[in-house]
Amino acid sequence: METILAKKLKKSADPTTVTLLKKRGSERTGRTKKELETYAHATLGTGNLKEAVKLPEGEDLFEWLASNTVDFYNAINMLYCTVSEVCTKASCPVMNAGPKYEYLWADGEKIKTPIRVSAPDYITYLMAWVEKQISDTTIFPHKWGAPFPSNFREIVRNIFKRMFRVYAHIYFAHFQVIVEQGEQAHLNTCFKHFIFFADEFQLIQERELAPMKELIERYRSE
Ligand SMILES: [Zn+2]
Repeated sequence: METILAKKLKKSADPTTVTLLKKRGSERTGRTKKELETYAHATLGTGNLKEAVKLPEGEDLFEWLASNTVDFYNAINMLYCTVSEVCTKASCPVMNAGPKYEYLWADGEKIKTPIRVSAPDYITYLMAWVEKQISDTTIFPHKWGAPFPSNFREIVRNIFKRMFRVYAHIYFAHFQVIVEQGEQAHLNTCFKHFIFFADEFQLIQERELAPMKELIERYRSE
C-alpha cells in the first residue's frame, strides 16, 4: 500500500518541492518509513485526524510546525494544480472566497501596498512567497538541531493564514471541477487536516476562517 506521501512525490512535477519534502519528511524529523506510513494512513481516517495533528511526545515544537508547514504547502500546491487550468484571469479576475471576501496581495517586501490581482496571479505570488521562505535555511533550517528564528511561530501563522485562502478559493470557485475529477474526498481530508492542525497550534485567527465557517464548524463538531 502506498503512502499519501509516496503518491504526493510521484504526482509532484516540481523537483524543488520533492527535495524539500524528502528532506523535511524523513531526514530532518528522523521519522522512519513505518512511522510515516502510519501517519499517512491516519490522515485518511477522520477520527484519527485530531490525534494526528498533536505534537508527538519528544518531538520539538518548531520541528513539528516546520515539517507540517512544508507538507501542507505541498498538499495545497498539488490541489491547486488540479484546478489551475480553469482558474484563469478571465474566470477569476480577483482573488476571492465567494462574493463577500476578496483578498489583495502584498508580500511586505517588493509589494508593500496591497494590490488587486487575479486569483491565479495571487496564488502564483503566494506559492512563490511560501516556497522562498521554506527554502530559506535561516527560517526553515535544514539541519537537525539548527536554531529557528525567534519569530518562527509568527512566520508559520502568516503562511497558514494565506494558505487557507487558497482552500477557500478552491471551495468557492472550483469545487465543481474537484468533484468532476473525483478529488472531493481528498480535498476534504486535506482541508480538515489543515484546519485541525491550525486549531491545535492556534495558527489562524477565527475571523480569517469566516468564509468557510460552516464547513469548519461541521468538522470541529464531528
Ligand atoms: Zn480561480
